[in-house]
Amino acid sequence: MERCSFCHRDQSQVRRLIAGPDGVFICDECVGLCQEVLAEDSIAPAVNGIAAAPPWRRLTPKEIMAQLDEYVVGQARAKKVLSVAVYNHYKRIVSGERPAGEEQDADEEADGRVVGDDVELEKSNILLIGPTGCGKTLLARTLARILDVPFTIADATGLTEAGYVGEDVENILVQLLHAAEWNVERASVGIIYVDEIDKIARKSGANPSITRDVSGEGVQQGLLKIIEGTVANVPPQGGRKHPTQEFVRLDTRNILFICGGAFSGLTDIIGQRRGVKGRVGFNTTGEQLRGEEEQAAELLQHVIADDLLKYGLIPEFVGRLPVTVNIEPLDEDALVAVLTEPKNALVRQYGRLLELDGVELTFTPEALRAAARDAMKLKTGARGLRTIIERVLLDVMYEIPSHPEVVKCVVNADCITRNANPLLLNGDGQPVAWGEYLTQKSA
Ligand code: ADP
Repeated sequence: MERCSFCHRDQSQVRRLIAGPDGVFICDECVGLCQEVLAEDSIAPAVNGIAAAPPWRRLTPKEIMAQLDEYVVGQARAKKVLSVAVYNHYKRIVSGERPAGEEQDADEEADGRVVGDDVELEKSNILLIGPTGCGKTLLARTLARILDVPFTIADATGLTEAGYVGEDVENILVQLLHAAEWNVERASVGIIYVDEIDKIARKSGANPSITRDVSGEGVQQGLLKIIEGTVANVPPQGGRKHPTQEFVRLDTRNILFICGGAFSGLTDIIGQRRGVKGRVGFNTTGEQLRGEEEQAAELLQHVIADDLLKYGLIPEFVGRLPVTVNIEPLDEDALVAVLTEPKNALVRQYGRLLELDGVELTFTPEALRAAARDAMKLKTGARGLRTIIERVLLDVMYEIPSHPEVVKCVVNADCITRNANPLLLNGDGQPVAWGEYLTQKSA
């Protein structure tokens, strides 16, 4: 008998039973209940197949966190803070939506606030602080992917070099519009990651050892404008072809800015404030010492706005980045996990590439460990892993297409540490000799 798949009542117990695909049914009462649930969450149901929903995927912080976990290793606290911050950001946009025709007043427009009944929700842009190659860009990019919003990366140092701040800052918006395929509505709720934000800090007495661009402050001012919310006039796709052609107007009020930087030397400032003597976490040449990395990471957890001001960020800028998140250095275990665990982990990616040639790729656990250990030495976080794995697999990818008999490739620790050739096996499990080119190379 046909029953509602939700409440299990049959045809005789309800007014209407609506059939869905694969033997699924829903009754009129359950439809009503679903509508109530949606109304509670202020989600308007789709009308004529067109969703009145905003142009991003609405997820709870837990759902965001769960998806971040699929792509980003470790950084548990950062992921939690980001999940909540991003959820709040998009909730704020919805709460600030006005009925059509109702304009924001000039004051609000000027300072980027969205005002509810009487409580104003300020935009919470995010500052990520932590060593290079440990997932800052990856987190920002993954968030954008999870929420299905356009994303672009800007390099703060690039802004310094060009000198023409106004133009450069506008370029970031052009990039975002491009990522949104020139859909202005989508671009206006996109995410912009500004990398190397520490490099545009004002030269400050607190950190004489670090050379910074003197024009940093100007760049901060330029960025500040779009971060706090402005209506920018962006030349249309490919520049204005005709002087009378209209500019694209992009409101940056709801764009989420995530800024990231290594902020080397910041631990000294925090250490001094907290009464920890000496150059904490760094040796005399400014190079970070192993073991003390953790100490530096621990100190960073105590960063406050004042430290960032001492570092050379201007107060207005710090004020616009109220959410500060620490990104921790990745240890050897984490690097092994980076190789294998994320959905698009390097080992999986190369596995898929070789699979297309009919070859099964395996890394021994010792090989993974050796790659992680080598990457630790490079001190570029997970960045070094790709270089290491690519070096090992280059010859394999060169040879394999000429050896259809190869069905398996095994990479062991020797391949990583001593540049040995990976083991190639045929269908009978017998080793296949390397081609002439490689035998000569390794001889
Ligand atoms: P940065 O902190 O300098 O912005 P990225 O996020 O660009 O570092 O990381 C560089 C690469 O290293 C990424 O493409 C990613 O594949 C890998 N990676 C870094 N950190 C992680 C992590 N926590 N989990 C998984 N992969 C990571």
